[in-house]
Amino acid sequence: MIEAISLFAWFAAASGAPIPAVDPLTQPIATSRSAEWLAPAVPEKIFGKTYLVGFGGLSVALIDTGEGLVLVDGALPQAAPAILDNVRKLGFDPKDIKFILSTEPHFDHAGGLAALARDTGATVVASARGAEGLRSGKHAADDPQLAYGGSWPAVTRLRVMKDGEVLKLGKAAITAHATPGHTMGSMSWSWQACAGEGEGKACKAIVFASSLNPVSADGYRYTAPSSAAIVKGFEASYKRMDALKCNVLISAHPDNAGAGRYNDKPGACRAYADRSRKLLAKRLADERVGAK
Ligand SMILES: [Zn+2]
Repeated sequence: MIEAISLFAWFAAASGAPIPAVDPLTQPIATSRSAEWLAPAVPEKIFGKTYLVGFGGLSVALIDTGEGLVLVDGALPQAAPAILDNVRKLGFDPKDIKFILSTEPHFDHAGGLAALARDTGATVVASARGAEGLRSGKHAADDPQLAYGGSWPAVTRLRVMKDGEVLKLGKAAITAHATPGHTMGSMSWSWQACAGEGEGKACKAIVFASSLNPVSADGYRYTAPSSAAIVKGFEASYKRMDALKCNVLISAHPDNAGAGRYNDKPGACRAYADRSRKLLAKRLADERVGAK
């Protein structure tokens, strides 16, 4: 058997067949925060058939629908193999991932989507503006972080969902909620996680919230007339988060959720919106007095 494999390798090399090069879809994007974002974390069950398969500083969720798996977000390009390992550690086969829901077209949540989609055969799901960003692998022209530049692996197989639309697979019904502002394509996702055997009979409303941070590259002004749609977007997103049925909040960056890897305290989604509301109000005030 050893000889057979060696012989095959020799033939492959001698025949000029392509020798596997470095994988372009998982090439690391290094930032000052990448190590902290990708701090290893043990995959864990939140409730029912909903799990976390991400990292200390970036959330990735997994839903077992009974007729296939759904992943939410893809972290950085170099994170894809670890995400799939975490899926395996929970006893699932990554090939059963049918959809990967995207919260926003930024490298830290969408960088791994292209590799994950390729390796699982899954379709990536996003808002129309989100899908535009994922296809380009770059910031949109109206993104407050546009001036940071950079790019990430582009996604080719996409399904667009509208605000309020429901993705049904197996026992899961996952609702898309447009939460623009941080990017105009940002989308949050909610579903019911219901108890399995021995967990009682309850169901919990899970919300995977997109980033609502009013952060920007230097020089961007939220008070500029051209930023009006972004500010309006944030305001609509706060109202949306306030109104969502939300027993458990998973935020794209867990440190913005106010508690560990997820927050299951009452009012978690409202507190999440409020944090951003205050940050944006401060930012607007700072810009008006010339402090920013
Ligand atoms: Zn972002």
